[in-house]
Amino acid sequence: MSALLAGKRLLVTGVITDQSIAFSVAKLAQENGATVVLTGFGRMSLVERIAKRLPAEAPVIELDVTNPEHLAGLADKVSGHVDGLDGVVHSIGFAPQSCLGGGFLDAPWDDVATALHISTFSYKSLAMAALPLMRPGGAVVGLTFDATLAWPVYDWMGVAKAGLESASRYLALHLGPKGIRSNLVSAGPLRTMAAKSIPGFEAFEQAWTERAPLGWQLTDQEPAARACLALLSDWFPATTGEIVHVDGGFHAIGA
Ligand code: NAD
Repeated sequence: MSALLAGKRLLVTGVITDQSIAFSVAKLAQENGATVVLTGFGRMSLVERIAKRLPAEAPVIELDVTNPEHLAGLADKVSGHVDGLDGVVHSIGFAPQSCLGGGFLDAPWDDVATALHISTFSYKSLAMAALPLMRPGGAVVGLTFDATLAWPVYDWMGVAKAGLESASRYLALHLGPKGIRSNLVSAGPLRTMAAKSIPGFEAFEQAWTERAPLGWQLTDQEPAARACLALLSDWFPATTGEIVHVDGGFHAIGA
């Protein structure tokens, strides 16, 4: 039997440390037959160093999703490494400190706008920037944190994720006729750089550890990455606009 992603060419955003969910996605994807191109934001030499820890060193293209020039030049730069794309992984999120940790009622619009630009609107921007390289059968996959509920301390990031979940459904609507799918993985709490920047994140860690029916490992990115791989593969050919929970079952349980 051939590997899950044999022959697939993937663009993976969001690697900043080897704890990044995107790092697990890139590693597993390579182990399962894919060719991976990474994008990095800001600390490019750090991302390049982390890229060397993959089973096969992956090229890194600079991409700030708020920079129109980076977005406009992305397809050209990617095509210097692969002759097309079968999948794109959006693993990007950011909110200024005022938007997190209980400051919901006071966060200024400029900060909220930054959170929405980077965490919500960029899902569409990234998909459109990669679209010239994609063909029917292609897939876009992003990462969310269950936005059907209001969580303590998550504040405007929760609103941004609600927008992301909706944006994914609209991308499914608008890219479906081109044969391109859009799906999200809703992950439980994982100790990454982004998570550590949320004051009070321990509350999630405790809740999941106590209540997830399957149990939950705070430092194991692989279950979320596996779901991303499955959604990028040919095994969900008629699934789009979907959100797959990889949270140990937490979302399904009441008190
Ligand atoms: P991470 O810190 O490793 O990754 C976040 C990435 O966003 C970083 O690589 C950072 O460079 C990138 N980024 C920030 N601003 C950017 C910009 N302007 N342009 C391009 N990239 C930018 O953390 P992570 O937890 O692996 O986060 C990946 C995704 O998973 C995020 O969407 C996050 O919200 C989501 N998620 C995380 C958890 C968790 O508990 N860690 C749970 C559910 C969903």
